[in-house]
Amino acid sequence: MGYQVTTGGDLSQPGSPAYGREMPESPEDFYARARAAADEHGRLPVPDQAMWEIFPFEHERLVAKPLEAPVLPEPPREGEGDRECGRCAHPDQDVLWSDDRWLLARLPQPLRLPFAAMLMPRAHLDLGDLDDCQAAPISTSSSWPALPG
Ligand SMILES: [Zn+2]
Repeated sequence: MGYQVTTGGDLSQPGSPAYGREMPESPEDFYARARAAADEHGRLPVPDQAMWEIFPFEHERLVAKPLEAPVLPEPPREGEGDRECGRCAHPDQDVLWSDDRWLLARLPQPLRLPFAAMLMPRAHLDLGDLDDCQAAPISTSSSWPALPG
């Protein structure tokens, strides 16, 4: 039997999108496996994409952060418990498009990219918490907004 981890939903409550889900590996086992692949400082190797000709950085100088041990239970995220949610506090900030379930918001500056945006559900859900109805709009390109050129 797998290990259960909460991802925003309540695994013990029937009706919750997370109800009954199991993870194939405990956080401790995952961390141990990742540590085994890391160097003596706990850093994972640079991914293969860094070796691609079009990769915009010099892979010799890229350094991954050392792995940190999992913290369980996971501390409350923004919008959980008494932690304020920045999106709920400023629901219209940098929003490029929205409907009743989703919004597309420009990422705050400064960025070192010409443009970046994040599609997010209005409800406090992780991707794995979405049921088929909630996930349907992000799986069809016809539901995506046209961005200004
Ligand atoms: Zn929120």
